[in-house]
Amino acid sequence: MNFVVFAGGVGGAKLADGMARSMDDASLTIIVNTADDFELYGLHISPDLDTVMYTLAGIANPETGWGIAGDTFHNFDMLARYGASPWFHIGDRDMATHLLRTQMLRDGATLAEATRILSERLGVTARILPMTNDRVRTVVDTEEGLYHFQEYFVKLHWQPEVRSLIYEGAGEAEPLPAALRAIETADTIVIAPSNLYLSIDPILAVPGMRDALLNASAPIIAVTPIIGGEAVKGPAAKLMRELGDEPSAAAVAQHYAEFLNGFVLDERDAELQPRIEAMGMGVLLADTLMRNADDRARLACEVVTFADRLRPEKMGGCKLNLSLPPQKQPVRSTDANR
Ligand code: GDP
Repeated sequence: MNFVVFAGGVGGAKLADGMARSMDDASLTIIVNTADDFELYGLHISPDLDTVMYTLAGIANPETGWGIAGDTFHNFDMLARYGASPWFHIGDRDMATHLLRTQMLRDGATLAEATRILSERLGVTARILPMTNDRVRTVVDTEEGLYHFQEYFVKLHWQPEVRSLIYEGAGEAEPLPAALRAIETADTIVIAPSNLYLSIDPILAVPGMRDALLNASAPIIAVTPIIGGEAVKGPAAKLMRELGDEPSAAAVAQHYAEFLNGFVLDERDAELQPRIEAMGMGVLLADTLMRNADDRARLACEVVTFADRLRPEKMGGCKLNLSLPPQKQPVRSTDANR
């Protein structure tokens, strides 16, 4: 079975991890947002690719949602000593990823090639694909002016009121051919519980991606990132309000309605089910809050079984493999980055 997951950082990584853990014999391709990428100290940083890669490798820091569990921050302290006033935390081990990726890109590798090499070395068997090898950058148009995404998100803690979002470079970007092929040959496509504007829309803004979904033969299912009108984490609900959408799971379903066959609604929002069904898609009620590894695997399994119900030929559901080893505990936690 071929699964494709559209993902940003934390929400996407958790569900992709659940799929990887609960389906030994399936092939999993994760198409990841790269519009949050940026350059710092001459390094190419890909926050969402790294969150997905570290999560699937079992080394992610579950408390922060970014970086590596147990990482140290000596480089950060030294930068501060130089008076560099760093606002983006990069752990010492995390730094190795950025150094190698940047070196590979300088030597002529594509972002997809660099991602493949890094994730293979970490023992990740799922295929992690950037949405494009080209440069796309989210620019946030706020009441206080234009900001690059990381400035808005990390430095300003997503506080300025947003008027619109610009996916700079998306119109000219070429979608990763392997991503288009994966969508075409997928048995199930899942839009992860990721931020719809900051993580999924930039992927859809790359020419060819939306059409690939519209033409896909596999059922397409989105998992809600909104529970009870609030984001589990981050600015999704705040942005929905600021951009004139109702902050609710129903608005998320509407946002993706043109290509969705099914929507996974949190059981706390059961009253929205008839509204979403009226949009012409199936609805699965589930506990979508992924607190631990077992939750991730259970939700992934429910999504796969739901997809099976939505297609004419059944494909055998999913084998649930619980009691997984716990992630390493971080020695330090900070929410300064994300
Ligand atoms: P980011 O790039 O790290 O912000 O990560 P994503 O865009 O992938 O994920 C952020 C979104 O995922 C937010 O809207 C959260 O509400 C949602 N999210 C995070 N964890 C969970 C979870 O366990 N369950 C559900 N349903 N949504 C989640």
